[in-house]
Amino acid sequence: MTLVPCEACGKPISDRARDCPECGHPVSGEYLVKRRQYEVQAAADAVIQEQRDRKAASLGTGIGYLIIVATLLFFWWLFSGLIRMAPSGEMPPPTAAEQAIAAKQKSLTAVRDAHAHQIYGRPYRKLPAEHRALVDESIARDAVR
Ligand SMILES: [Zn+2]
Repeated sequence: MTLVPCEACGKPISDRARDCPECGHPVSGEYLVKRRQYEVQAAADAVIQEQRDRKAASLGTGIGYLIIVATLLFFWWLFSGLIRMAPSGEMPPPTAAEQAIAAKQKSLTAVRDAHAHQIYGRPYRKLPAEHRALVDESIARDAVR
């Protein structure tokens, strides 16, 4: 048994009823057939609408992926451009000041080692902190002399 709206008053009535219990309008076989066709059509329309919605949703997903890929490509392009613009790996030659500092550090190390060997028989870098201090004092005394 299915409920159908009465053709006359719209109240739900059984499709098996001969007439509407509310208004007494007769339920014709022709009306029931039309009603059935309408329901089938409505169901078909619903299926078509659902397919359209799904298609639209998948299109939206596709556009989303496209945006992500485009963004990634943009950043790749941006960074590859920056890398090309960056200076090559060659270090610039040391300036005169840098060379002087390096030479001084080298000579300080040499002087410290010489004193450390003289006093302790070991290189400066292998001495404990208090011995290093004594070596440095010795160097300072030599400089004053
Ligand atoms: Zn009725």
